[in-house]
Amino acid sequence: MFKFLKLGVLKKGVQTRDYPRERAPAFDAFLGLPMVDMERCDRCAACVSACPVQAITMLPAEIEISAERCIFCAACVEACPGAMTMGKEFELASLSRDGLKVVYRRG
Ligand code: SF4
Ligand code: SF4
Repeated sequence: MFKFLKLGVLKKGVQTRDYPRERAPAFDAFLGLPMVDMERCDRCAACVSACPVQAITMLPAEIEISAERCIFCAACVEACPGAMTMGKEFELASLSRDGLKVVYRRG
């Protein structure tokens, strides 16, 4: 059995990546945390209303997206295709809650 497995690996070669040293790009349809292009944002708050889990907060000069709350549904991007896109980032873990907040500000 072991011999058989060893032969299989030798035949096919290593099929896995040496993560995290070697990262695979996210596939085209992957939905990561939403991103805001603040140059195109007119602060209408349609994204805030569209979000089913209140993951988007409108602050006086910023928009904050919480990776802790986001369920990656893309409802915000559907509400605002002009200024929002779904990102490709999948490594969102953080040791602190503040690290799970992504803040977008103009400039
Ligand atoms: S990101 Fe889009 S929906 Fe959200 S406040 Fe800006 S313009 Fe409005
Ligand atoms: S992807 Fe869905 S859950 Fe995440 S911020 Fe947008 S609307 Fe909210």
